[in-house]
Amino acid sequence: MSENKHLLEIKNLSIHYITNDGTVKAVEDMNLEIGTGETLGLVGETGAGKTTTALGIMQLVPNPPGKIIGGEIFFEGENLIGKTPVEIRKIRGNKISMIFQDPMTSLNPVMTVGEQIAEVIKLHQSVNAKEAIERSMAMLEKVGIPGERHKDYPHQFSGGMRQRVVIAIALACNPQLLIADEPTTALDVTIQAQVLDLMKNLKKEFKTSMIMITHDLGVVAEVCDKVAIMYAGNVIEYTDVKRLYTSPKHPYTIGLFGSIPDINDDEDRLKPIKGLMPDPTDLPSGCPFHPRCPKAMSICSERKPLNTEIEPGHFVKCLLFEDGVK
Ligand code: SF4
Repeated sequence: MSENKHLLEIKNLSIHYITNDGTVKAVEDMNLEIGTGETLGLVGETGAGKTTTALGIMQLVPNPPGKIIGGEIFFEGENLIGKTPVEIRKIRGNKISMIFQDPMTSLNPVMTVGEQIAEVIKLHQSVNAKEAIERSMAMLEKVGIPGERHKDYPHQFSGGMRQRVVIAIALACNPQLLIADEPTTALDVTIQAQVLDLMKNLKKEFKTSMIMITHDLGVVAEVCDKVAIMYAGNVIEYTDVKRLYTSPKHPYTIGLFGSIPDINDDEDRLKPIKGLMPDPTDLPSGCPFHPRCPKAMSICSERKPLNTEIEPGHFVKCLLFEDGVK
């Protein structure tokens, strides 16, 4: 590992999709860092750019129509952009793993779950077939599934159990970084809590760094150390969890907190953010949030806000926090 203290460092990353309807700026000038053992929450509405960020890190952006327009993604000090497909395959599924929202899309219906875990282990480590099956049984036990069920097929498991199998596959090679894209959204609430607990415990045990992609601020509070809030391809606020919850600064972040239902509160006080996410092929000029922003000023439709560090480790992209504006 290089001298770089961050496991993952994203610098000025931009990813666009070039479509017949226009260019979608899915990720714009992103800067993020994740240290060893840290969990970063990537939060935003559908279409904010969260999954594209994950695909960018995994070097899986579909090209065409997607393209990494600029920036760097350093993993263990090495830039992933520009690596050959062979080099990337050695990292993907081994040092960096990903869990998707719907477990059925990542499981092969005609292979037993044990074979699927063993396949990942054999691909990246020099073990024989018997050892790989033994390790896959041990991984199943770690995620709370009896090892003897390694001979079962995905359809023989419930939704929550299937997601446990996916987690076992993702952790089979003890990756340094796990990217979880809405891993509990497709599950019912009780199972969601169990899977989240499991992920928290495994993260501690394996010392894995994690990116948790979610639209759920409750999930963030429970599992994340740092949070990046995304809107229309931009990280508009980035800080640690405590500061985000005690002192959110960006009007969009404040709006997100205002739109969380609170059972102890009057329903009248629930204030959803007005308006809808803009058309990604036709973003508003200046700050893309300006048509929905309760604090918008005339300059907001004219100038894009810069990423401003308002105190050490707390970044906001909003003109209210730039010197000389207002
Ligand atoms: Fe609102 Fe202007 Fe800040 Fe954008 S730059 S969030 S429109 S105040």
